[in-house]
Amino acid sequence: MEEKTTQEYIRVPHRLTVHWKEPAGAFVNRFFLRMRDKAELWAIKCPKCGAILLPPEIVCGKCKIRIEDKEENWLKLGNRGTLLLAYHVTGSREIDPSTGWHPDGQVFGPLGFIRPDGGNEWTLLVHAMDAEDTKNLHPGMRVEAVWKPRKERTGTMQDIKFWRTVEE
Ligand SMILES: [Zn+2]
Repeated sequence: MEEKTTQEYIRVPHRLTVHWKEPAGAFVNRFFLRMRDKAELWAIKCPKCGAILLPPEIVCGKCKIRIEDKEENWLKLGNRGTLLLAYHVTGSREIDPSTGWHPDGQVFGPLGFIRPDGGNEWTLLVHAMDAEDTKNLHPGMRVEAVWKPRKERTGTMQDIKFWRTVEE
């Protein structure tokens, strides 16, 4: 019979900084390539329930079916959209929304919850707003993506510089 240990173990806290790369996956890969090469936002549309998924996902979040990576399941969204909500985190709790990091001294502008035209309630993008604060950002405002020039686009969410409000 094995004797149980009574050894006490001390835990030592560590913080690691790790950089790594991983494949984006078929759907997100296509999504980022079209952002990089065409300055377009493409969502995946569930063929069963019609949910328009942005970011594109392989399994429908509504009816849980697996969606095939077929051209007919992809839907090009508009370059304009509607602002649903804007918020601005200020002070020491600011983090980079794309990495979750907290770079000291970096100042972030407000973020918007945006539904690009052509989407439905399953279509939502959180991105930077071209504004100092949320004072003049209101739900229902029309907004437009401002893209970086082609040579600066690398296939990330930062290929869009920001969203700005537009009059229509
Ligand atoms: Zn569905």
